[in-house]
Amino acid sequence: MIIRKGFKYRLEPSAAQRADMVMFAGHNRAVWNKDLALTKDRLERKIPISWYHELNWNMTNFWKKSDEMNWLNDAPSQCLQQTLKQFDRAMRDCFDKNQPNKRMPRFKKKGVKDSFLFPQGISFEGNRIKLPKLGWVKFRKSRDLEEKLKSATVSRNGKHWFVSILCEIEVAEPVHTSNTAVGIDRGVAIMAACSDGREYIGAKAFKKHEKKLARAGRLLARKVKFSNNWQKQKEKVQNIHSKIANIRKDALHKASTDISKNHAMIVMEKLGVSRMSKSAKGNSEKHGSNVKAKSGLNKSILDAGWAMFAAMLEYKQAWLRGMVEYVPAAYTSQRCSECGHTVKANRLSQSKFQCVQCNHAENADFNAAKNILAAGHAVLACGVGAVVTTMKQEPLAV
Ligand SMILES: [Zn+2]
Repeated sequence: MIIRKGFKYRLEPSAAQRADMVMFAGHNRAVWNKDLALTKDRLERKIPISWYHELNWNMTNFWKKSDEMNWLNDAPSQCLQQTLKQFDRAMRDCFDKNQPNKRMPRFKKKGVKDSFLFPQGISFEGNRIKLPKLGWVKFRKSRDLEEKLKSATVSRNGKHWFVSILCEIEVAEPVHTSNTAVGIDRGVAIMAACSDGREYIGAKAFKKHEKKLARAGRLLARKVKFSNNWQKQKEKVQNIHSKIANIRKDALHKASTDISKNHAMIVMEKLGVSRMSKSAKGNSEKHGSNVKAKSGLNKSILDAGWAMFAAMLEYKQAWLRGMVEYVPAAYTSQRCSECGHTVKANRLSQSKFQCVQCNHAENADFNAAKNILAAGHAVLACGVGAVVTTMKQEPLAV
């Protein structure tokens, strides 16, 4: 079985390489924007638009040979072709009736999601990666790469450049090394409370950096828009944003790796994250009643990055041949995990749970995690005989 695995590293390019990367990103952006403008014009005039092969032929035989655009030859052809393929895909998606959410592609702006993709011709050695036309570029090797490199996307975030490498790995089809199941309550105070007693605190990075970000944002607002100082300040704001995102992602990776290594089955609640984060705002005429209190909570929800966390658990379980099961979110926070008595009064506060019937007291998140695990067993009652089920299991040795 062949699986694809992605690796992302921060590049440490030389000044010349950095200049080339800025140039490559710019040329790819120019190709995208020019083709988008032409396509929009054709649509307006109601004439058929061009797809990849025609766009590529046009670029190779006209643009690259013209006095106005022959500078395109400075960028790697394969990257430009990838940009055309991405453009082709975006146009097809936007006309696809099965994807009603897709809209017309947008013009790319300088400094926003700068990137280009090498579909082939990459290799690595130690902590250097060889990219066409750029040569050997150093990178921060935070974890080991797999042997077979498939493609590499170079992208920019704030002042740093990154490379995302897609590897193809041939693996046997093993079974998960663990045979236990775990329930996870995805909370606000504790990001993930597990039925085995472990807890993973969410990235509070945002809160720590919030003040920093607010201050930087205020300074930005005071500067003259598009002035040099404004550009500099804007870069600072972007750097704080990306720093927060990185810290958060790191915490989510550590937690999801740990959980998926230790359990063959992971049970979580089905939660409508997008709906929860929208509800407090209300609409422009009628604002939600306690917007302020709710928006604080919503921010924390988004902060913890639940959707991202679930996605990580899913693919990590897929690698390890484990499984992820979702159960309905009803009453898991009000039910007593010992006697099953379900009543609102059991929940004393956000963090305290005490059963009014059997007096069982526990942190509310762990109580919920146990209920989630039990609900998972109910769903999977038949067909998972291999999974040993224990709710009060000792933490496994790592
Ligand atoms: Zn009880």
